[in-house]
Amino acid sequence: MTLLRAEGIGKAYGPTPALVDVDLTVRAGEVVAVMGPSGSGKSTLLHCLAGIVRPDTGAVTYDGRDLTAMSDAGRSALRRGDFGFVFQFGRLVPELTCVENVALPLRLAGERRRAAERKALEWLERLEAAGVGGRRPGEVSGGQAQRVAVARALVTSPRVVFADEPTGALDSLNGEQVMRLLGDAARDTGAAVLLVTHEARVAAYSDREVVVRDGRIRDLMGAP
Ligand code: ADP
Ligand code: ADP
Repeated sequence: MTLLRAEGIGKAYGPTPALVDVDLTVRAGEVVAVMGPSGSGKSTLLHCLAGIVRPDTGAVTYDGRDLTAMSDAGRSALRRGDFGFVFQFGRLVPELTCVENVALPLRLAGERRRAAERKALEWLERLEAAGVGGRRPGEVSGGQAQRVAVARALVTSPRVVFADEPTGALDSLNGEQVMRLLGDAARDTGAAVLLVTHEARVAAYSDREVVVRDGRIRDLMGAP
């Protein structure tokens, strides 16, 4: 089932086009890697599909709903409810412990502290990072911080996880571990993943790779 679809999307910042007539579909539960050189438009594509950036042309549909026609409030509600995000640098809240960071999306959704932190700890265990739960992000390694960020992205059971260079700040061993854990967790929960990376070793954990060059996409596997 197609969960997310971009049809003919284009986006320009000033005179320079960042995306030109891009089509991409992501099926439920599928891990899709978007590769390509720096500046080719990968992040812009991810932001358009996540409803963060509105494309100038074309349409993005999620679960049959047109994101480009939705209100800002509708799109933010969708992002909080159905989407999870992992960035290159964890963007964890430095004042909170790692467990509190993972519990935060649940707390914001109204869950009680005890239940939220129990779920957060379960997710840290799945990400093999339970040991850092009581520490603040500044007291853990980069690899541990990214496991915490992945746990935070998955704790709300999103249907799509958007991961923009999630291993970009890690050495190759930590990067592959984080990607394996993210891929396994997504497959266990049935979440789709849209992964932006320039590392072939990281993209190897996906079901399908597409390449963006100069704002245009090339689908290597020829998905329907
Ligand atoms: P990638 O993720 O592949 O590195 P981006 O999507 O970040 O590529 O950028 C694609 C192009 O759009 C680049 O030329 C970049 O400079 C430009 N761009 C991206 N975001 C902005 C922005 N907010 N304002 C102006 N130009 C931008
Ligand atoms: P490791 O390889 O140990 O997982 P890195 O090589 O990515 O960690 O980072 C080296 C050091 O930089 C870490 O031990 C940590 O002190 C610090 N560091 C890097 N990224 C972060 C982060 N996102 N949060 C907290 N500390 C970080």
